[in-house]
Amino acid sequence: MDENFAFLLPVVLSLFGVAFLVVARYGNRAALFWGGGYLCAALGFLAPLLLAVLPVAAVALAADALFVCAFLFYSHALICHFNAPRMFALRGAIAMLGYAGMAVAVLGVDSLRYELFLSDITCGLLLVVAMVAVRLRLRAPVEKALFAAAIFVVLETVVRTLVFFYMAGSPAIDAFVGSSYAYVMQITSTIGALLLALTALASVALRVLDGHRRDAEEDPLTGLLNRRGFEQFIGEGGRSAKNDAAIIVADIDWFKSINDHFGHAAGDEAIREVARLLRAVSWPGLAVARFGGEEFIAYLPNCRLPDAHMLANTVRIALGERDLSGIGIDRPITASFGISVTAAGDHTIHEAISRADRLLYLAKSSGRNRVVSNAADGGQPAAGPRLFVVRDEMSG
Ligand code: GH3
Ligand code: MG
Ligand code: MG
Repeated sequence: MDENFAFLLPVVLSLFGVAFLVVARYGNRAALFWGGGYLCAALGFLAPLLLAVLPVAAVALAADALFVCAFLFYSHALICHFNAPRMFALRGAIAMLGYAGMAVAVLGVDSLRYELFLSDITCGLLLVVAMVAVRLRLRAPVEKALFAAAIFVVLETVVRTLVFFYMAGSPAIDAFVGSSYAYVMQITSTIGALLLALTALASVALRVLDGHRRDAEEDPLTGLLNRRGFEQFIGEGGRSAKNDAAIIVADIDWFKSINDHFGHAAGDEAIREVARLLRAVSWPGLAVARFGGEEFIAYLPNCRLPDAHMLANTVRIALGERDLSGIGIDRPITASFGISVTAAGDHTIHEAISRADRLLYLAKSSGRNRVVSNAADGGQPAAGPRLFVVRDEMSG
């Protein structure tokens, strides 16, 4: 059983290493370092095979170097995953001092006891430094599980190290090495390594999936939601306060001519500017999306028509007053807005969006640079022509 165990561990660690490298191909840097760590650890466990061709001291130093590298990689992977301060100097100093100590233990005093002690303490410390750096950045449950696994590994290392350190000097060590306590310790350290690997793999995989989801739901030009992201947001309960939510749709006026006069790049900047203004609208639960070229939609939960109207008008005025010469546009740009609120008879939010779209069209056809909402909007289209229009008399 012991033999199998010794053989299985490097195989399992290598498999994890390869799995991490596969995840790293999807653009996750932390996975790259986890992969490097697990491959180093696997090689470290295989180092005794070198005893056939190398002296014991050389094999011991090679194994020590591989384990220190493995833990440098783990600590770097944790720090990368949580985007925490790198602390290169501290981690580098721990690794170098620790390894120098191991070299003295192996070559100078020929003490297995001190070598193991320094190796375990160095590796544990590298992990602890990273854990301190990331401790306030844990978000997803799986990331908390990863942190818990790291705590387990550190505690297990400390206990194992101290037990070996104090027993190694006594005559009881031979009995201890063959005992079931030693066997249990070997199992717990393996469990620690596997728990760390599993939770780390789940954490990086989740990040990769999240990244893809964000790419699919976010507009790269403005960072707003795209149509799909907006639908998703609404579907996930964003419209819980259905009856009171307001919809603002906005479209930049004469945008084709802005592109024609000032160039497509300046046009893009103008789109970003409108996005910034809409995102800055102060309303709890606000969601803003870019629905097409220069069309935007804002969803305001628990918002009544007059409030939505006032907020849209604030954006309209702010946009008209913006000095855009910095982005190469030397005249004001304006936008038109249509506003509706969800109504009791609505089946989906799209009915409110359609009403807002019709009012936007009305804003365009009646001169642009204005906010149009149906003043009597209980949402009922039948409320018809009683429109509430705000426009800037100066810029008409
Ligand atoms: P209106 O006042 O009626 O809205 O007139 P308009 O010229 O703005 O007309 P419309 O809303 O149809 O214009 C859409 C234009 O937006 C067409 C396209 O050239 C431009 N456009 C679409 N997407 C982008 C983009 O990502 N960047 C830039 N710079 N222009 C875009
Ligand atoms: Mg337009
Ligand atoms: Mg348009």
